[in-house]
Parts: sequence; C-alpha cells; structure tokens
Amino acid sequence: MVNKKPSSQPYNLLPEAAQTLLALMHAQGEVARLSEREQLFSSLLDSVNAVLWAFDWESRQVLYVSPAYERIFGRPAGLLLADFNEWRDSIYPDDLDYAERSLAEVLVKGAVEDREYRIIAADGKIRWLSDKCFINQQTDNNQRVIIVGMAEDITEKKQLEGELQRLATTDALTQSSNRRHFFDCAHHAFATARLDQAPLTFLLLDIDDFKQINDTYGHQEGDYVLQRIADTGKAVLRRGDLFGRIGGEEFAAVFPGCTPQIAQQIAERLQREIQRLSFSHEHQTFGVTVSQGLTGITDADESLDSLFARADAAMYQAKRQGKNQIVSG
Ligand code: GH3
Ligand code: MG
Ligand code: MG
Repeated sequence: MVNKKPSSQPYNLLPEAAQTLLALMHAQGEVARLSEREQLFSSLLDSVNAVLWAFDWESRQVLYVSPAYERIFGRPAGLLLADFNEWRDSIYPDDLDYAERSLAEVLVKGAVEDREYRIIAADGKIRWLSDKCFINQQTDNNQRVIIVGMAEDITEKKQLEGELQRLATTDALTQSSNRRHFFDCAHHAFATARLDQAPLTFLLLDIDDFKQINDTYGHQEGDYVLQRIADTGKAVLRRGDLFGRIGGEEFAAVFPGCTPQIAQQIAERLQREIQRLSFSHEHQTFGVTVSQGLTGITDADESLDSLFARADAAMYQAKRQGKNQIVSG
C-alpha cells in the first residue's frame, strides 16, 4: 500500500494504482539518472591518469581504488582491496619507511600534499608517484577515520627534473662538475670537515701551455685534450672526492677526510696518468703536462676561500718553477 499523503496534495486524488505507477516511473527515472551518473564518473575516473583511493585507517582496509591503479601499478585492484599489503609490496624498498610515515602524518596534519615516492610496477619499471592524502571530513556513523588520496604518476616530470639538474651542474664538454656545482659541493665538504674536525685537501690543476696546443693542433684537438684530462681525473679520484672543471683549462678537486700526504700520492698518480696520455693530430704525436697546487685544511681556515687561495698560489709557484710539477702550500 502507498502511504496516505496529506489531502492537500493534488495527486492524492488519483486512484491508488495510478499513484503506484507514478512512483514506479519516478523510481525508474532515478535509477536511469543514477546509472548515467555512475557511468560518467567511472569514465571520468578512467581517463584521469591518477589513482584515487580511500582507506580505512583502523581496519587497514582499502575501501576504493580507481581504475588507473591497474594501469599505473600493473596489479589487479581486487588484490589491493583484499589486502592492503599489496600497496606496501609495490613500494621501492628504500622509500617504504618514508611512504608509511608520511601516510601516518595525515592523522595529525589533516592533509599531506607533498608525498613523493617510488614504486616498482609489475613490469619491473620504477615509477615516481606524487601521492597526496587527506582525512575525509565526512566520517560515517561509526566515526571511522577514512583517508582519501590521489596518487599521480610523475615519472616523466622526475626524469625531466633529473635531466635539468644534470645540465645545470655538469660541464657540457667534459661531463665533470661545472664551476658553480663544484664550489657548492666544496663549501659543503669544508663545513662538514670543520664540524667533524676531519682533514680535507684542496687541489688545483692547470694544463701547461694549453694555448700552444690549441694554436698548433686546433681548438677541437684542445677540446679533446680537456676531455681526456677530465676522464683521467675521474678515474684517479676516489669515491667521495669532488672533481670539477672550474675554468677553461683549469680543474679542481677536494679530498674529504684525506691528509695532505695521501692527497700528494693521488696528485702524483694524476700527474703520471696525464703524462701517459698520447694524442695524435695529422700524423703528429704529442703529450700534455699539468701543474698542480695542493693544500690541506688548517685551524686558521675559516672558509674554503683561504684554502682555494693557497692552492692557487701553490699552483702558480709550480708554473714559475718550470711547470709539470706539484707544489704544496
Ligand atoms: P700556462 O702553462 O701558463 O697555464 O699557459 P696556458 O697556455 O695553458 O694558459 P693561458 O691562460 O695562456 O691559455 C689558456 C688557453 O685555454 C687559452 C684558451 O683559448 C684556452 N681555452 C679555454 N677554454 C677552452 C676550451 O673550452 N677549449 C679549448 N680548446 N681551449 C680553451
Ligand atoms: Mg689557466
Ligand atoms: Mg694553462
């Protein structure tokens, strides 16, 4: 039976059967509208290249995950809905701790919008995600804490950022650190050495008579010499040492945690390896030598500048003394 409506309602005058029919038609219309809306939402969510998700904090249950999950993670959504550990298993091991800690932060902050971590997709490829999360304001009757989120694939953006970073810090000709990046790192290494009261050595290297190499064999051959010297530098230095091209034909190195005695041995090896390089241009063979200035940190050094100045003076002394040698200052 249809409920009796107040007599002021006009359709209450209709016979009961007609009222039922009208109610049915109305309900059918509603169902059709809802299904249309659901289709619209579902196609919208499918075309968004981000995973929308909802998570019940207490029961650690994923309540909803949008279709992009399967595309980005390459795993069936059903498994994630059945077991939250699916999400943890996808995360790149080094980032798991951060991903979990930053998820828990949402309970205190209400929103965490700067979460970025890596996942290993089913195809074995590493992908970067920006996974923003928020506490859902509409908590249900049980007062459950529902966290909603949006995980966007930012792999391309990250690769681009990495490439930009590389371009901004690398010398294009020799692929070693450029001057600005070298000094940024060197200042940092100096501060760390000061704090730890650890040794640190600074080395400057300048190619001897490089102008003559350019004049005799051409600028292109000169460029090649610079590349080979940079390669030699990178090969001789140890992990953790800094190396950069700080001028036209001038390179510098910083050896953190290294006494001047050890640094002297590295510089001698560098000197030998560079002397061993052999170049040929139009059937002419030639070699190259360098002058180096070396200095270690002292208690009087308040910044890297004084160290740099001493290494520079030592290097020029090496030039004055006949080049192709190492001078400690
Ligand atoms: P010294 O032994 O006293 O160091 O003499 P030098 O000829 O090496 O030094 P000088 O400063 O007179 O000349 C440096 C030359 O380096 C001049 C410049 O044309 C050249 N140079 C600077 N940058 C580049 C580069 O990127 N490529 C090439 N091929 N040459 C360069
Ligand atoms: Mg020079
Ligand atoms: Mg020179």
